[in-house]
Amino acid sequence: MSEREILEKRISKLCKYLGRSPWVFHVNSGSCNGCDIEIIAALTPRYDAERFGIKLVGTPRHADILLVTGPITDQSLERVKLIYEQTPDPKVVVAIGACPTGGSVFFESPFTNAPLDRHIPVDVFIPGCPPRPEAVLYGVVLGLEKFIKKIEGEKK
Ligand code: SF4
Repeated sequence: MSEREILEKRISKLCKYLGRSPWVFHVNSGSCNGCDIEIIAALTPRYDAERFGIKLVGTPRHADILLVTGPITDQSLERVKLIYEQTPDPKVVVAIGACPTGGSVFFESPFTNAPLDRHIPVDVFIPGCPPRPEAVLYGVVLGLEKFIKKIEGEKK
């Protein structure tokens, strides 16, 4: 079995365990769009994350998982915090790419505010500049595992 098949099996199992589609909201905090294109690629027919029920939604108010790209520019910082607050609990934040971790190529810019976890709690950091769609999906898998743990924690 290939790594991709193992990953797909794991996603499918988690979605079945959850019993409903995990909904994802994409937050661009000033990225170069490289990571954003890889997120879109994970949804296109080749990877087709939607077949497991993973769905991009148009508002954070309906989201379970936030996928954040970019180095958190001055312009986006307050919006990122607002989006985090608007997302209902329990929620999970997955930081995609090197930008939200340490700024990547924007590291020395005075207008960026990485790392993301200085501003909002982050559950998973996925490295890469940009990470491949498989890595994005792996980030969603790790995020889903944390999301399920949070739901189960709330039930106790
Ligand atoms: Fe662009 Fe790289 Fe930053 Fe992704 S990590 S937004 S590809 S500079």
